[in-house]
Amino acid sequence: MDSHADSDFTLANLPYGAFEAGSGTRVGVAIGASVLDLVELAQSGLLDGVCDEPVEVFGSGSLNAFLALGPEEWGATRARIAGLLSHDDPRLRDDVNLRERAFVRQRDVELLMPFDVGNVADFYGCKEHAINCGEILRPGSDPIPANWPHMPVATNRHRSTVRETGVPVIRPCGQTPPGPGAAIPRHGPTEKLDFEVELGYVVGGATELGQPIAAAEADRHLFGVMLVNDWSARDIQRWESTRHFTCKSFVTSISPWVVPLAALEPFRVPGPVQEPEVLDYLRVDSDWNLDLTLEVRLETERMRELGLAPELLARVNPKGLYWNAAQVLAHLTSTGATIGPGDLYWSGTISGFGELERGCLLELTHDGSRPLELASGERREYLADGDVVTLSGWGGADSGRVGFGSVVGEIVPARVAARA
Ligand code: MN
Repeated sequence: MDSHADSDFTLANLPYGAFEAGSGTRVGVAIGASVLDLVELAQSGLLDGVCDEPVEVFGSGSLNAFLALGPEEWGATRARIAGLLSHDDPRLRDDVNLRERAFVRQRDVELLMPFDVGNVADFYGCKEHAINCGEILRPGSDPIPANWPHMPVATNRHRSTVRETGVPVIRPCGQTPPGPGAAIPRHGPTEKLDFEVELGYVVGGATELGQPIAAAEADRHLFGVMLVNDWSARDIQRWESTRHFTCKSFVTSISPWVVPLAALEPFRVPGPVQEPEVLDYLRVDSDWNLDLTLEVRLETERMRELGLAPELLARVNPKGLYWNAAQVLAHLTSTGATIGPGDLYWSGTISGFGELERGCLLELTHDGSRPLELASGERREYLADGDVVTLSGWGGADSGRVGFGSVVGEIVPARVAARA
């Protein structure tokens, strides 16, 4: 078996997803251009002992049953799959019939939502993003709220509109501020549709009401990480102010694969110094930041007509995130709030201060006042109908590359509600 070097899905990665290949929905692991069907492995007895009833767990069509198990089973499963894919293990290598059943080409399957999404929240954990936005939207005032350095702030969000890559983004309608000279707000399609590049933290295991998770224990509850495009309507957001409700709840796009925390070990780095010092319950001793490259590309309708490649808009690294995943879990459970398998908490827009280090158009175009000049000759303040936005992300290189796959969304025209 080759090492699938340069693919997002090397032997170092082994991310989990759900797929449909005409035989029901199944859990699989991406490897190179293929998906390894875990139900076929389980039915052949090759996953015996990694967990109870592996055929049921991986045949359930979503990752939730596996996420519910816990770190021992996650570790045993990952080790077994890595072993079966290695050159030294003949059980899969030499079984031609099983190989034929177990390896499916990714392009021949439909990738589904990897898990049923539970609780969701959008954090605001990147200091550079907060500063950039503050300078654009509230020049002259302190961009960092008084509570921000002391806790990872967030808004609870709408779970049922979290969707897999490829689902179209219907331009949302909403209430926007009164225009110049107008006394009342308007309701209609957003004119400021934006993307946000973020990391999503996928929870496994469950807690009971009243049971906080210590930050040091977070790795027992954090299964993995995925890419999130937290689509946002900036004019609706402006009017809703800090009580984000409809401005970001129309659709949220996620990558098809969940990369286990175990695969991200080589990319764990110390985060920025937190000053003032955080409260005890938010203290972490290990490195929780991730040194990765995340990119955003835009393809307009005109680019497609001209045969131009999608244009790189942003390249960011989450290693600078101020608040990390362990602190997110510790904070949100510190009241005794429960978490469960399939909960998804995203980091907040990831930005820096460099030219390309802007994780959304709000920052890239200064809220539309400095439009982007695209290679197609077009300008963009915010997204237009027909635009396709693609997020991608990875760490490492060659046979050590660990990638997330891509998150694609095409903007389609608003559906304006008819009056009764
Ligand atoms: Mn966000």
